[in-house]
Amino acid sequence: MEQKPAQHVRNLWGNVTVDPLSFASPAHDLEIEEVLDCASGEYLDVREWISSWRYEQLIGQRVDIREKLNGSPRFRCPVCAVPVYLVSNQHKRFYFKHQIEDGSCPAQTRHPLSREDILARKYHGLRESEPHRRIKALILRSLLADPRYSGIEEERQWRSARDPAMRRQPDVQADGAQGRLAFEVQLSTTFLDVVVARRTFYRDERALLVWVMGRFDPDYRRLTTDDLLFTNNSNILIVDEETAAHSEHTRRFHVRCHFRRPVRAGDAIADLWESSLVLFDELTWEQDRQRCWHFDYESEAAAIRKAIDAELCARETAAADALRSDLFAFWIDRERNAEPSEEARLTWAEIRQSFAGRGIDLPLSPDSESGFVALMNGLTSAREGRPVGWHFKQLVEVGHRIADAYPEHVAAFGHALIHFRNGDIVEGQDRTGKWKNRRQTIRKSLERGDPDFLPHSDSLSLIGFLLPGVEKKLEKLMLKARNAPSNSGTLGSR
Ligand SMILES: [Zn+2]
Repeated sequence: MEQKPAQHVRNLWGNVTVDPLSFASPAHDLEIEEVLDCASGEYLDVREWISSWRYEQLIGQRVDIREKLNGSPRFRCPVCAVPVYLVSNQHKRFYFKHQIEDGSCPAQTRHPLSREDILARKYHGLRESEPHRRIKALILRSLLADPRYSGIEEERQWRSARDPAMRRQPDVQADGAQGRLAFEVQLSTTFLDVVVARRTFYRDERALLVWVMGRFDPDYRRLTTDDLLFTNNSNILIVDEETAAHSEHTRRFHVRCHFRRPVRAGDAIADLWESSLVLFDELTWEQDRQRCWHFDYESEAAAIRKAIDAELCARETAAADALRSDLFAFWIDRERNAEPSEEARLTWAEIRQSFAGRGIDLPLSPDSESGFVALMNGLTSAREGRPVGWHFKQLVEVGHRIADAYPEHVAAFGHALIHFRNGDIVEGQDRTGKWKNRRQTIRKSLERGDPDFLPHSDSLSLIGFLLPGVEKKLEKLMLKARNAPSNSGTLGSR
C-alpha cells in the first residue's frame, strides 16, 4: 500500500487530530536520531522507524515501550546506553527521550564526540542487546565444557601488558593451546574501525582475537559481515545452540565454520559456500594477522588463478605462433604478379583481421604496398633460408636487394637472419665478401645514428610480432638516431 504522510488537521480549539490510518510522523528535530533495538541488536534510524508505523499502531508501540522501560527496555540510546521511550509533541509527531535526563548523555552536550568515540560507544552499547548476551552465553557454555580451556572469564577487563592505561573488555576470554584468546561476539552491525582497532590491540598483546557470529547466511550478508569475512581468509565462525550442545556432548569446543571454496569456472573463479562443524583447536591460527580459519581460501584461490594464468599464457603463445605461421605460409604460397584467387583473397582478409585484433595494420591487399612486399619477402626469405618472393637463386641476393632498394628494412632482415639462425647461409654465399663489407657499413651508419638505414616506425609493430624481441632493438636504433646531434630536426617525421 502506498505510504502517505500523516494528515495533521488543526481544529478550531487548537487541538491536532490525526487520521489513525495514516502513517505516523517523526518530530522535525529529534533528540535521538538512532536507537539500539535490544531485541535484534540492530541500530534503527528513528525517522524511518517512526514513519513505518500507522499512527494507531505506533500509539500501541508507545505503550509497550513504556511498560518495558524498567524491566527489559526495548530501545536504548546508542551513545550512552540509557533506555529510551517514545513520546509525541503537541503536533502529534513522535520522538525518543532518555529515561534519565541528567545531562550526562554525550550526544546532548555542547562538546560533540568524535566519530571514533561514537562508534566505540555504539559498539559497546550492543552488549546490551539480547542476541549479544545469548551468543556470549553460548561461547561460555562451549568453553566450560572443554577441559582444555582454562581461565575462562566473562566481560573482564584486559589490561595491556605494555601499557596498563590501554585496556579492552572482550566478551569472553580463555587460555587455550593457542595462548590467550579473546572472544568478541560479532552482531550484524559491528564497525570496521572497531574491528581494526581491536585486532591491533590483541596483536600487540600477542594474543588472538576471535570473532564469533550467531548465524550466517551467505546469500544475505551485510558489508560489516564482509569486513570480517574477507579479513579472516573468507571463514566465518558460528557458535549457536547446536554447536554448544555438541561441544557439551563431546567435551570438546566445536564451532561451525562457513567458508568459501573457490572453483574454476572457465577462465574465472567462482565460489561455493560450504560449512562444517570443526574443533576450535584444530583451526589454523595466525597471530600476526589475527586470523583463525578452517579452510585456506587464499591459497586455493591463488593456485587456481595461477593455473588459469598459465593456461591463458600458453593459449596466447600458441595463438601468436599460429598467426605468425599463417602469415609466412601465405607469403610462401603467394602467387606473384597474378590476380589473387578468391581463396587467397579470403585467407588474406582473415589474416589481416587477426592482425588488426592485435593492433597491427596490414595492407588491404598483400601486393598493394611495395615496401610491405619487400619487408615480407626479406623476413620470409630469412626464415626459409632461401629467396621467397623474388626470382633470386641465393639468400645473399635478397640482402643486397633490400640494402639497395629498401634500406629501411635491412636492419630487420639482419635481425631475422639471427632470429631464424640462417646467418651462416648468407655468409657461405658471400664469396666476394661484398655482403660482409656492406654489413659493416650499415652497422657503422646505424651506430652513428645516421638516417640512411634507419627502420620506419610504422613497420615496428609487425616486425616486433613476427620476430619477438627485435622491436626493442630497432627502437633503440631509432632513439640513437633521434639523439644524434647531426640529425636534430631531420627525423621528426619518421
Ligand atoms: Zn544518550
